[in-house]
Amino acid sequence: MSHEFLSQAHTEQILTDHLHARGVEVERGVELTELSQDAASVKATLRHHDGPVEHVQAPYVVGCDGGRSTVRELAGIAFEGSSYPQTFVLADTDADGLDPGTAHVFVSPDGMLFFFPLVSPAAWRVLAMRPLSDPGASVTLADVQILADRYTNGVVRLRDPVWMTNFRLHHRAAARYRAARIFLAGDAAHIHSPAGAQGMNTGIQDAVNLAWKLAHTLTGDSPESILDTYAAERAPIGRTVLRMSDRAFTIATSTNPVVRIARARVAPTLLPVAAKIAGGRGAIFRTVSQLNIGYPRSPLSATGPAGSSRRVGAGDRLPDAPLAADGAARTLHELTAGPGWHLLLCGSGWPVDAELARASRLRVHRLDHPTATTALVRLRVGGPTAILVRPDGYIGYRGGADLLALRAYVGRWLPRHQ
Ligand SMILES: Cc1cc2nc3c(=O)[nH]c(=O)nc-3n(C[C@H](O)[C@H](O)[C@H](O)COP(=O)(O)OP(=O)(O)OC[C@H]3O[C@@H](n4cnc5c(N)ncnc54)[C@H](O)[C@@H]3O)c2cc1C
Repeated sequence: MSHEFLSQAHTEQILTDHLHARGVEVERGVELTELSQDAASVKATLRHHDGPVEHVQAPYVVGCDGGRSTVRELAGIAFEGSSYPQTFVLADTDADGLDPGTAHVFVSPDGMLFFFPLVSPAAWRVLAMRPLSDPGASVTLADVQILADRYTNGVVRLRDPVWMTNFRLHHRAAARYRAARIFLAGDAAHIHSPAGAQGMNTGIQDAVNLAWKLAHTLTGDSPESILDTYAAERAPIGRTVLRMSDRAFTIATSTNPVVRIARARVAPTLLPVAAKIAGGRGAIFRTVSQLNIGYPRSPLSATGPAGSSRRVGAGDRLPDAPLAADGAARTLHELTAGPGWHLLLCGSGWPVDAELARASRLRVHRLDHPTATTALVRLRVGGPTAILVRPDGYIGYRGGADLLALRAYVGRWLPRHQ
């Protein structure tokens, strides 16, 4: 099967363009050098690459400054964990001897070598483990070719490298995601091996989780305590990703004879079979894409009377489904894409002028048969059900026709929406 691989540089460009279109510019060449906070604000010193020093005061600071985070260090947050002993090579090159447009993995007793197809800056991204006995201080095309020969039995010829680097990997997590008015997100909060390709995705979801909570706090729509739910929701996810990628890394690099045989002989047979089985492929996709994560134990997840649902309950991500609203075909995700909270009043039996719908500032949508039949099935709706969807697309509250518990939820987290 052919896949399109989007490089991280390309992904970052898409996000930067999106911000630019909304009037937000990312300032490059500006370094945060000092940080302090008191009860009311955070003060930061920024050094511009062309000399000027700027002093900024802000209600909150989010450190998205990578594994060596200065923000984390200046906030006094420990980064707990260790480094793996292996050295890896990463290179963007052209190559002969590979089927184009398809990812290739070669396994050997030494470890694994990957070729990922790229659109630019070269045709292939090579990722390979160097032998423990030869970590190498630098990397040349000849070094990468020797590695490629070992893994591919000389089948692949590399040429025209764009860039190459040696790197080590670490597995560490911040002891806290928050120090009063300072937060950590992305690699600043957790770093792990790229096994499973989870790092950037986890960081983006950290940012999505925190951004709307900060916005609600700053506008006064939510109490400051909503910010505590960031670490409550994201730290367990960070720990799980670290644990899973650590396991995958250990299997990929172990020198244990049994693991080496399993890696070289059993995995190449079993994994393609698992990926071909519909259930197996779906499970792999949901895990790697992180669409199956949820926050059922979060203080922000509440279930009202007649609202429990094992698969689409409070804390779960709202599933998508086609809708026919106002005659125009739309989807559940499109319906709830606008900023803010969305209240889905599902099934029949809701008074036309349901008090909450009239009085509140929630965006209210009614889902009923026949226009929303598929959505109601996917939402596992039997009787009348109220589903309150957070700005990040997760279900905050699910309950039945009795709206008392929903009112209590809105009163706690969105007091100005009542
Ligand atoms: C070999 C490899 C392959 C990977 N493959 C994948 C993959 O397939 N999928 C995936 O999801 N993830 C992957 N990752 C992980 C991914 O690259 C990281 O998780 C991601 O880049 C983290 O993003 P971030 O914004 O948190 O940190 P970074 O990308 O490190 O960005 C931090 C930014 O902060 C800036 N900065 C640092 N200090 C300061 C300061 N004092 N002042 C101002 N700015 C500062 C830096 O210049 C940088 O721009 C891979 C990682 C590696 C090493």
